[in-house]
Amino acid sequence: MSKKRILVTGGAGFLGTNLTARLLNEGHHIICVDNFLSGLKEHIVGFLDNPNYQLIEHDIIDPIDLEVDEIYNLACAGSPPHYQANPIHTTKTCVHGILNMLELAKKNNARIMQASTSEVYGDPEVHPQVESYLGNVNPNGIRSCYDEGKRCAESLCFDHQRMYGTNIKIARIFNTYGPHMDPKDGRVVSNFIVQSLRDEPLTVYGDGSQTRSFCYVDDLIEGFIRLMASENFTGPVNLGNPVEFTVKELAEKTLQMINPEAQVSYLPLPSDDPTKRKPDITLAKSKLGWEPSIALDDGLIKTIEYFKSVV
Ligand code: UDP
Repeated sequence: MSKKRILVTGGAGFLGTNLTARLLNEGHHIICVDNFLSGLKEHIVGFLDNPNYQLIEHDIIDPIDLEVDEIYNLACAGSPPHYQANPIHTTKTCVHGILNMLELAKKNNARIMQASTSEVYGDPEVHPQVESYLGNVNPNGIRSCYDEGKRCAESLCFDHQRMYGTNIKIARIFNTYGPHMDPKDGRVVSNFIVQSLRDEPLTVYGDGSQTRSFCYVDDLIEGFIRLMASENFTGPVNLGNPVEFTVKELAEKTLQMINPEAQVSYLPLPSDDPTKRKPDITLAKSKLGWEPSIALDDGLIKTIEYFKSVV
């Protein structure tokens, strides 16, 4: 495989860190662009001595000029409390950010993969979600900055492709978990593990009957690599684990694995919280030969080991 110069925006985040480790391992040169709004310096210290690694502290809402062969545009907080903390900046990250990256891709004739999301389906009325489903998104709720931002980003990718022939790839990422999640991230898997380890009550929002399908990060990264390498395929393609659990089941599982004595505390359900989510991955299977291989129990064991070392 030839060595490539690969830009990873959001390279100090959860997905960015895991992707960088994989790409460095394959011998590529990685340029990490991160504004450290939700990315963590401690995630990347281990990369800094690598001559194939370059860190640029920069916010992609502003243009940047680089020489690159591929771009993975992962920059944007993915956790609801984080992206809702400054929702206007979240929209700018999604919209101005992808536009700047598309311009860079066009100038370099580089491939660009956009990290889109299952949130483009909103609170879905079609279950499981197929890529052809157009979604049920509230345009002005507390999730809209992210949902509509990511929808607009997809729109810009396709307009860029139609206008300039830009080589785009769109991954719709479903709930993902694993090492290098921020313990303060606020998402359900990290919250439950950290709470169990600290002997604190597990915070279940609502009655816990809402569902999610959790993909281990190594599986997701394999999907990214296959999508980027694919020919004559742009997506959008769902990348996620199709095995569905209720939030209450996840709480029970986490308790069993870490601390059966810990309590559960039921808190109000945040507004616009989708009631169910599960990807249809038929397209990923047929176009990329991809499907997750790591079951939730096995992924949780690895993730719990990681959190034991950081909290
Ligand atoms: N959730 C929960 N307790 C928590 C964090 C999240 O019950 O401490 C719920 C949340 O309401 C949602 C699901 O778990 O229904 C997944 O939330 P997360 O923030 O991980 O991601 P989302 O899929 O909502 O973007």
